Order: sequence, then structure tokens, then C-alpha cells
Amino acid sequence: VLIRNACDINGRPIELRFNRQIEAVAAQLEPAPGEEVIDACGGLLLPGLHDHHMHFLAYAASLDSVDCSEETLADAATLLEHLQQQLQARGGAPLRGIGYHEGEGELISRQQLDEVSRQIPIRLQHRTGRLWIYNSAAIALLQASDYPHGAERDSKGTLTGRFFHMDDWLQQHFPRSPLNLSRASQKLAEYGITGLTDAGPDNDDSTRTMLATAQAGGELLQRVVLMGRPELNFEPSTALKPGPCKIYLKENALPDFDQLCAQIGEQHQRQRAVAFHCVTAAELHYALAALDTAGTSGFDRIEHASVCDDQAIAIAAALGVTVVSQPILLAERGDRYRQSVPSDEQPLLYRARSFLTAGVPFAGSSDAPFASANPWRGMAAAIQRTTPSGVEMGSAEKLSVKEALALYLGDPADPGRRQRTLDEGQPADLVLLKESLDEFIKAENRLPTVKATWIDGRQVYVNPA
Ligand SMILES: [Zn+2]
Repeated sequence: VLIRNACDINGRPIELRFNRQIEAVAAQLEPAPGEEVIDACGGLLLPGLHDHHMHFLAYAASLDSVDCSEETLADAATLLEHLQQQLQARGGAPLRGIGYHEGEGELISRQQLDEVSRQIPIRLQHRTGRLWIYNSAAIALLQASDYPHGAERDSKGTLTGRFFHMDDWLQQHFPRSPLNLSRASQKLAEYGITGLTDAGPDNDDSTRTMLATAQAGGELLQRVVLMGRPELNFEPSTALKPGPCKIYLKENALPDFDQLCAQIGEQHQRQRAVAFHCVTAAELHYALAALDTAGTSGFDRIEHASVCDDQAIAIAAALGVTVVSQPILLAERGDRYRQSVPSDEQPLLYRARSFLTAGVPFAGSSDAPFASANPWRGMAAAIQRTTPSGVEMGSAEKLSVKEALALYLGDPADPGRRQRTLDEGQPADLVLLKESLDEFIKAENRLPTVKATWIDGRQVYVNPA
């Protein structure tokens, strides 16, 4: 296949021949006899985008779920009405609500969900991802006689339907409904995403098998880097590679420091990096202190670094630790942050430029389904840093268009440090936009039209328009 008349990330004309790999790149190439030729009409041609931190299975499930993230749904009565409507609209199929938040009010209860239905299972996930609330019909489906500590009980010992920090357990004990992985993967292809890093801390061999099977069956098109449990280990294939060990820090239950350092050392011994989930300043400093003590692998990562002070940036730079973050959360939750985050911490939220300036390898991601999986929204957020109501947050942290693009062009194994390029011999993972670089830079809404996406030389998406 020959793509003609495109422009590259520097705005230069580019023509590119590929099979499964890029075979030739030049300002101009002549079509070979019988060769398929695509006229890019001046559109921007890039290496396919990689989402460096998301949760693919949860994302697939989210596309089947009821979105309860709307601010108005923090009100219990409005939420219950919304669920009732959704129940009817879906012909009485079990409901899985996501993005729920109680606002200033009380958390919704099992009994309130029972008012919506006693027969049909209703499950509601808190937007932090750390709490599920089940109605009685959903509890009845749990295949368990014994519940871990996170299962809340009332004074009589009855389950309240609230399950804290039990995501993994619930997944194992609630009957699985088949996930539509194909739809989720196709959606990502439409965005120009050709690879993703799944950042689930509980990913294990069964996750690996599920994803590998989906790739082999053509339901999962993207290349995947799989983070996961300490023991996760497997032979990499071109489509599925093991990623760092994910260490999920919780400020109110930090692990023993020496044990944590030993765990890091063990992973490094196995040539495996670690990736710390850090959303608070305390979690971040704890992770950095542990890395400082245990030593770094050169590929260790901090995920989110949601609140990051200058000192933490300096330590990360000195240690050579990569930060993978989500400025998109400012665009989605910025107004809430302005209310709930102390004002002296607000300038420290989802920083970007400061990482680049300090030489910290920095890459972008969606954390989908906890934020939109659309990488172009992620870039727009990194460029504009505006809240949903249009207020700028941390203007000093804004990125240029090219820097924002680069957030998704990193080598999945070493994001923020090595960038993928359109060079001969590179895999033909490509995304072609309708817009030229100039048009993309000037576009008001920053959401370009993806014309086509290729993975491993195969067209996985073409814009029907
Ligand atoms: Zn995540």
C-alpha cells in the first residue's frame, strides 16, 4: 500500500509505502504497478497512537454500562429515577451503573436500589472505582458464602450492599456476562489507537489468556502491554507484551517500607519494572522514597502523579522515573477539583510542562473508563487545561500541540523517552487524519477527523464519510 500526499508531524510532505512494516518513506514515491494507492489529500500521517494507561476490560464493560456521572445524578431521587428509566429502556436487562458520586449527600443504599427493582440485578460503581453498591438481586447472584473485610454490614450483620476495595473479588464472584471486546477495540481504532497499556494491578495469567485469545480471534485489534500482579510473567508476542508490576498505593494503608523496597528489588531482579499508582502527594513521595532506596530499573513508572510538587519532580528527574498521567481529568473533573482540592494544591494537579522542563520522561493516557478514551480529548486537555465550565487550571503547565501529540507517540516499553517514528522497518501502525498539521493546530475544538487506522499493515478503521 502506498499513502501519497500526506504530511508528517513536522508539516513536511511525506509518502509512505508499507506492508506489515514501513517499507519506504520519502517526500515522493512512485506507485508500483498494481499497488493500492491512498491519497491523503494533505492529511497528517502519524504512528498509531498508544494509550499508555487504561483498563481495557473495564472500558469494554463501560460501553455496556449506564453512565451515572452527570452532576445532577448525585441527588438520590434523580439517580433512582434515571436507573428506573434505563431499566425500562434496556428491557429489564441487569444494570451496571458507573461514574456514580454522592455529591454532598449520603451514599445510596441497597434498599434504595431495591426500590428500583427487587428482581433485576443492579450494580453501581462509585466514580473512584473503589466502591460498588449492589441491590438485593445482585447480592443474591454473588457466588460466595464468605465475604472479605470490605463488605460492609449493618448493626444486625446484614450486608449493606456496599463493597469497598473489592473490585477484583466481585469480578470473580459475580457471574460473568460476556464482554463485547470487539466493540471497545473498534472504538479505539476509530480514535487512531493502535496500542494500549493495560494498567490493572490484578491482571494475571487469566487476563493474559483472555486478551491473547481476543487478539487471536480478531476481537482485540490493538497491541497490548499488560501490567499486573507481581507474579505475572509470560513470553512476549508481537501483539502482547508483559509490562511493569503494578503497585497500588493507598495513602491510608501504605505498605511496610522495607517490604515495599524488597518487592521492587525482586521485580528488578526479574528484569521487570514497577509502576506505582500515586494520586496523592503522600503516595507519590512514598513511592519515590522506595525507588530511591531500592534503586531504579530505568523503566520504572509513576502512574497519575495527580498531585505533584516541585520536590517530587526533582526526585523523579534524578531517579529517571517516568510519569504517565492524564491531564484529561482537568477537562472532565476540573470544576470539582476547584471545589474539593485545597487551593494551594490546585497548581500541583496534573502537571505537564514542568515534567518536560525537568527532563522527566512524560507520557499521556486516558485511564479509561475513568475518563474518556478519546486521545484527542486528552491532547486538547493538555493543550488548553480548561475545566468543563471553561476555567483554566495551571496555565503554566500547558503543552504545545506537538508536545501533546508526543504524549501518545511514545514507545510502549519506554514512554516519554523513546518516540515511535515513521521510519523504514517500523511496524505499519498508522493513523491518518483528514486535517493537515496546520489545520490540526488551528482547529478550534481540537478534535480531528481520523480518516483511517492501520495496525500491523492491516486497515482496522476507515472513515465512512
Ligand atoms: Zn488506572
